[in-house]
Amino acid sequence: MKQSFYGGVHPHDRKELARHKEIAPLSAAPKQVVIAMSMHIGAPCKPIVAVGDHVKVGQKIGEIAGLGAPIHASVSGEVKAVEPRPYVGGGKAMSVVIENDFQDTWGSELTPHPDYSKLSTDEIVNIVKEAGITGMGGAGFPTHVKISSGIGKVDTVILNGAECEPYITADHRLMLEQGEKVIGGLRILLQAFGLQTGVIGVEANKEDAIEHLRALVGGRNDITVESLRTRYPQGAEKQLIQRITGREVPPGGLPAHVGCAVFNVGTAAAVYDAVVEGKPVTHRVITVTGDAIQEPKNLMVPLGVSFQQLIDEGKGFKEEPERILTGGPMMGIAQYDLNVTCIKGTNAVLCLTKKEAAPVVEEETCLRCARCVNVCPMHLTPVYMHLYAEKGMWKEAEALNVMDCIECGSCNYICPARIHLVQSFRVTKGELRALAAKEKAAKEAAKA
Ligand code: SF4
Ligand code: SF4
Repeated sequence: MKQSFYGGVHPHDRKELARHKEIAPLSAAPKQVVIAMSMHIGAPCKPIVAVGDHVKVGQKIGEIAGLGAPIHASVSGEVKAVEPRPYVGGGKAMSVVIENDFQDTWGSELTPHPDYSKLSTDEIVNIVKEAGITGMGGAGFPTHVKISSGIGKVDTVILNGAECEPYITADHRLMLEQGEKVIGGLRILLQAFGLQTGVIGVEANKEDAIEHLRALVGGRNDITVESLRTRYPQGAEKQLIQRITGREVPPGGLPAHVGCAVFNVGTAAAVYDAVVEGKPVTHRVITVTGDAIQEPKNLMVPLGVSFQQLIDEGKGFKEEPERILTGGPMMGIAQYDLNVTCIKGTNAVLCLTKKEAAPVVEEETCLRCARCVNVCPMHLTPVYMHLYAEKGMWKEAEALNVMDCIECGSCNYICPARIHLVQSFRVTKGELRALAAKEKAAKEAAKA
């Protein structure tokens, strides 16, 4: 039975800033791109080009070195450096710096398959892998691994078009302007899983996209487009599964444990590009928005373009931003260096004015109001997890399932005492992972 998920909040969505802006190319191609070798969950890629090499658009420049997906050049030109550069996830990451020759010489080795109906599961998985596709919603999990690990377990494929984070409109525009690719990508995914039907979930605040996708599905009854109630975090994987199928992913479990695989609509479009058109991931749609931006936009951006250039594309600041984030205001990561460059998971550059940004204030004493408990979509008890975290009682916090926290920020948003709850859960999870690694190493040492 389909169920609405527990908890959640209703932040003002501010999508009106960019929702009607068509996806546009950059007004000027970048002179240089800095392509980070860390674009996914797992091990960073190993650069396979050297300074002085000439590369083409779509040419592989980073090879998998463990769990991951290869990385391709987004412009043609000369490799000027292979070195650590400022990274959107914090610190520095090994990067390939390419000086654009503005020739756009194409160099992908993928073969287009306009008729994909005869491709086997293995062939589709291999194309998705070679195309370097990762979760385009921001999670960055390698898509080929999600498909291959779900074969035989998954009976329901869901596309996530919820885009529940305020301000961001990249997926909305993609569904409106490249809906054929979204639908086609889902049909390819269904073929890979050996399934006949799939579902696309879209929040009701994108009624035009829902109608458009339904029209594209047409008379075929293989795909259902579901209108979802607008409530944050509707687009979180476990909440989406519960809403669409009524199944609850158990604590510590994965979607495949309840027979589901969830892909972002952008990921489906990337699958279509790879399989049908033979194109690896070299570009993505990014929303540049926030009240501090002169002209909010949705842009088709080559990977490796700097945040500074994206802000310039939005005609710069109309007001000094209080905070710049990659992603939305609920889960986004603050940026302090505009030389960082976009990666496959970058869906937005958000520039907030002082008025828009939640003020950085001193925490007050917890009021024991339980509002954080009431909004937590994972049925957690943030107030108690935070108490343990403050005292460094990591194991006690673990017993309250802190590892299941999806860091959605709903508790932070609602807390009247402005306690930095999510930050303390991130620290707690880091400590618990370090403890687990230590315990594992000690066990292995004892066996040796
Ligand atoms: S505890 Fe985690 S999952 Fe629950 S509301 Fe807070 S951030 Fe979201
Ligand atoms: S919402 Fe904030 S003040 Fe209320 S119980 Fe939770 S942590 Fe305490």
